Amino acid sequence: MKVVLASQNPHKLREIQTILSEYGMEVVLQSDLGLSIDVDETGETFEENSYLKAKAVLDATGLPTVADDSGLSVDVLGGEPGVYSARYGGAACVTDRDRTNLLLEKLRGVRPDERTARFVCVITMLMPDGEKLVGRGSVEGVITTEPHGEGGFGYDPVFYIPKEGMTYAEMGAERKNQMSHRANALRQLERQLDARKEKGALK
Ligand code: IMP
Repeated sequence: MKVVLASQNPHKLREIQTILSEYGMEVVLQSDLGLSIDVDETGETFEENSYLKAKAVLDATGLPTVADDSGLSVDVLGGEPGVYSARYGGAACVTDRDRTNLLLEKLRGVRPDERTARFVCVITMLMPDGEKLVGRGSVEGVITTEPHGEGGFGYDPVFYIPKEGMTYAEMGAERKNQMSHRANALRQLERQLDARKEKGALK
């Protein structure tokens, strides 16, 4: 069965492909089908936005589709930047570094015990018959006062995970892929695919 990934991101493709191939699914990027659908992420939750992305590609292709939406939610900022993580600061913030600096600025003077945050990822799989499978994963952490580490992307250098004793940017891709919010969401999706397989829906 062919499944279209509603993303332009080859890193996400590799991670999602590895897992879905175990279920006999061949994952292709929308660009492989000559599509370039850029969905307005108008939802207020990660669930809504991952659904919007998956639905747009399903409507265009008629094929099973998988999409993810993710972001960082900081408690003392009422959940900001949340679904706006990629667009935090609007036009004034161009690079990941700009957005990270804005976050550090907003948290200036906030005590260490009040800098709690979590990364969240929601993955939605939609079937042409209307069936919907959703996996949600999160990782708890603390926002540092300055960047640490060179790896990863986005807010990785300021997201410290007490259980690991380091930031996402310090842990290396292999470890991050084992324990990240995206890995956890994929694991949850996997459990639903297992249940579906047991019911005989996937052969
Ligand atoms: P999406 O591609 O619409 O899901 O946007 C996700 C945004 O959230 C990214 O642009 C990053 O700013 C942030 N983000 C999501 N996952 C991560 C991560 O693993 N590390 C750092 N930033 C992330």
